[in-house]
Amino acid sequence: MLDFIVVGLGLSGLSISEELEKRNKSFLVFEDNSQNSSYVAGGIFNPVILKRFTPAWKAGQQLEVAIPFYKELEQKLQVKLVHNWNIYRRFHSIEEQNEWFVAADKPALSPFLDPELKRNTNPNLKANYSLGKVLHTGHIDTENLLDNYTNYLVNRSKLRNERFDYKELRLEKNYLEYKDVRAEKIIFCEGFGLRHNPFFNYLPLKGNKGEYITVYSEDLKLDFAVKASVFLLPLGNDLYKVGATYDHNDKTPETTSKAREKLVQGLRELIKCDFEVVDQSAGIRPVVSDRRPVVGEHPEIHNLYCCNGFGSRGVLIAPSTGTELLEYIESGKELDPEMDLSRFTQKYYSSE
Ligand SMILES: Cc1cc2nc3c(=O)[nH]c(=O)nc-3n(C[C@H](O)[C@H](O)[C@H](O)COP(=O)(O)OP(=O)(O)OC[C@H]3O[C@@H](n4cnc5c(N)ncnc54)[C@H](O)[C@@H]3O)c2cc1C
Repeated sequence: MLDFIVVGLGLSGLSISEELEKRNKSFLVFEDNSQNSSYVAGGIFNPVILKRFTPAWKAGQQLEVAIPFYKELEQKLQVKLVHNWNIYRRFHSIEEQNEWFVAADKPALSPFLDPELKRNTNPNLKANYSLGKVLHTGHIDTENLLDNYTNYLVNRSKLRNERFDYKELRLEKNYLEYKDVRAEKIIFCEGFGLRHNPFFNYLPLKGNKGEYITVYSEDLKLDFAVKASVFLLPLGNDLYKVGATYDHNDKTPETTSKAREKLVQGLRELIKCDFEVVDQSAGIRPVVSDRRPVVGEHPEIHNLYCCNGFGSRGVLIAPSTGTELLEYIESGKELDPEMDLSRFTQKYYSSE
């Protein structure tokens, strides 16, 4: 009998799998490629919400866990995953620059906001005011990470590339059975796919569609990321990622011309030189109504767990959340009430 079944191999399932390996637990992952949020993510880690200059939820603590986590994976998989570079916030007015100084003085933000402003020296970047540098930022190459981690699990017979069919799950008193697999516990990490899960689809998980374009621009020569109305991220070889859009209504997986036009317009407003769109991608972010993860055990069925709701910040949230869920399962350590799914039991759960 296995210790665990894991459903889904995005950033959530990967963090859970890593934690299970560290604890010498046996497990099998099911992945059907029905969602691709982690795969198409910009992979950016940034502890500050740059629209309002406020700290992201628990980002300082998450950063301390996440970067060593991805660095260890670089060693384990022998691939480059962590790319450190600075994000610069473009200001629109003197008032905004002043707000930056006020924010940089606050204890929660001072480690991340450089009070020294930078003058723009790139002739192709439109910036009438200065740029503010955010510290401890960069991106994780999530595509490379997931491709390599998939191979790692396949080589160890720990992954089945197939859809997990909820109807086939049989719940016994001390174990559960799925087709030919018997396990003690199961952890669901399906991202927006959770809406098909009959055990946990009572949770208020909403999808938020995000799209990116990749552009080629020979003249731009930008070696840092810029946050304006769009995020501009250099990939090397004169390629740049531009994104991302936020759409609460459209839950389809396909890319759209509407998003492409919006991003092209945002980029034209940010740079002066020519560019060519060479690629576009879309995914659905798993967002919860109160913008916190949903993690924990099913309200009535023992040994059924959920690890979801990472919204637009999966890169930073996933590693510490995976550890916290396993500490809860294995040692009974209480979950942070802000992410514990039991906060929704009374309001949304009905056993009928
Ligand atoms: C355009 C875009 C840009 C983003 N940029 C960033 C960023 O820069 N930084 C950041 O931190 N976050 C970013 N995010 C958010 C981030 O991608 C998410 O927070 C994170 O990927 C969620 O991970 P997850 O594992 O919960 O879900 P997912 O990545 O959706 O993974 C769930 C997995 O479960 C599988 N699955 C579902 N149902 C089943 C089933 N029945 N059987 C088998 N397998 C199943 C799916 O195929 C999928 O692989 C972005 C998201 C989008 C869409």
